[in-house]
Amino acid sequence: MQRRVYADNAATTKLSPQVLNKMMPYFTDIYGNASSIYTEGAKASAAISEARKTIADCLGCDPAEVFVTSGGSESDNWAIKGAAHLMMKKGKKHIISSAFEHHAVLHTLDSLKKEGFEITLLPVYENGIVKPDDLRKEIRDDTALVTIMYANNEIGTIQPIDELAAICKERGVIFHTDAVQAVGNVPINVHKQNIDMLSLSAHKFHGPKGCGALYIRKGLRIPNLIDGGAQENNRRAGTENTAGIVGMAEALRIAVSTMDERGKRLSEIRDRIIDGLLIIERSRVNGDRVKRLPGNVNMCFEGIEGESLLLNLDLRGIAASSGSACTSGSLDPSHVLLSIGLPHEIAHGSMRLSFSDENTLEDADYILQCVPSIVKMLRDMSPLWERIKKNEMQTKGSN
Ligand SMILES: *Cc1c(COP(=O)(O)O)cnc(C)c1O
Repeated sequence: MQRRVYADNAATTKLSPQVLNKMMPYFTDIYGNASSIYTEGAKASAAISEARKTIADCLGCDPAEVFVTSGGSESDNWAIKGAAHLMMKKGKKHIISSAFEHHAVLHTLDSLKKEGFEITLLPVYENGIVKPDDLRKEIRDDTALVTIMYANNEIGTIQPIDELAAICKERGVIFHTDAVQAVGNVPINVHKQNIDMLSLSAHKFHGPKGCGALYIRKGLRIPNLIDGGAQENNRRAGTENTAGIVGMAEALRIAVSTMDERGKRLSEIRDRIIDGLLIIERSRVNGDRVKRLPGNVNMCFEGIEGESLLLNLDLRGIAASSGSACTSGSLDPSHVLLSIGLPHEIAHGSMRLSFSDENTLEDADYILQCVPSIVKMLRDMSPLWERIKKNEMQTKGSN
C-alpha cells in the first residue's frame, strides 16, 4: 500500500481515539438534556461543568468566563461584532486588526465597515509579525477594539500578544485574539496576559468538529449571541452539545499537558524539512523562522504553480495545502502571502505543510524525497521557469 502522510493539520486534525472514547457515553447512555432535573440530565450537566472547568484551567481563567460556540468562526464573529456593537453605544467606531487575519475575522470586519465602522489593518512585514509600536500609533480615542490573531494559520508566525494586550489595557481598549492555531501549541494564560476575549476551535487540536469556545473576561458585557433558553449563562441559547463539549475539554487537556514534548518533536520535523528543501534553487521560507508554530512549514518555489505541486504530492500520498482551505478553489494568491510582500507570481508557487502528533521524522524524510523531484518536473515544463532562467543569464551576462 502507498504511504499516506497527512500534513494539513492547520486545516483540521484527526479526532483522537482517547477523545472519542470520552465522548461516546454522551451519544449513547447519557443523552439527557443538560437543562433537565432528572438523573440523565443532571449527569450531562455535571459533565459540561467539569469540561468547562478543564477548559478554564487550560486558559488560566474562571469557568464562568468560558462560553461554548460551534467553532472558531462563530467565536470570532461573536467577539468582534459583540465588542463593536457594545462600544458603538459609547461613540467608538474604530477597529484595529492585522492584514493577514483569518477570513472569519477579515470578512466580519468587512461587514462592520458597511455598518459604518472604520477599520485599520496593521502591516505584518516580511517576517509576518505585527509591530507593537504600530499599534501604539494607530490607537485613537474612538478605538473600540483591537483584534489580532495569536498565530497565523498559513505561515505559523506567532504575534507579540503580551505587548499588544498590555498596550490595549493601558489605553482602555478591548483586546481580542483569534487563538485557533495557538491553543495547545503555545502556553496561554488569558488573565496574566491581559487578554479580554480569545477564540478557540476543538477540531484544530484533535477534538471534534463543530465545537469551539470564546473566553470573555468577566464584566465585559458584549451582547448575547443567541436568544432563547438559559444555556451558556443566558448568552448563547440552544441545547448543549454535551459530547462535543466533553470532547473539546479532553482534547484541550491532552494538548496542553503534552505541549512541551510535542513542540520539540514537531520543530525537529519542521526544521529538517525546511533545511532540506531550502537547497532547491529559488526557494524561500515564508514567515519568521523562529517565532513560528512548531508544526508549520510554508515555502515558495519560483516558477511553478502551487496547485500542480499539491496535486502531485497527493499522487505520492502526501496531503498538503497551499494556504487556507477557504482560499483554495479560487485562483487568487493567498492574502497572507501578499501581506508579507510576496509578488503574485511567487505567492502562486506556495506550499503549506502542518504537522501533528501523528507525524514522524520518517514522514519528513519521505517529503524530502518527493518535493524536490516534483518541483524539478514542474519546472521542466514551465514557460515561467524558462523565462526566469533566461533573465538570470542575461543579468549575469550584463555584469
Ligand atoms: C480554522 C481557523 C478558524 C475557523 O475555525 P472553525 O472552527 O473552522 O470555524 C479561525 N481562525 C483561524 C486562525 C483558524 O485557523
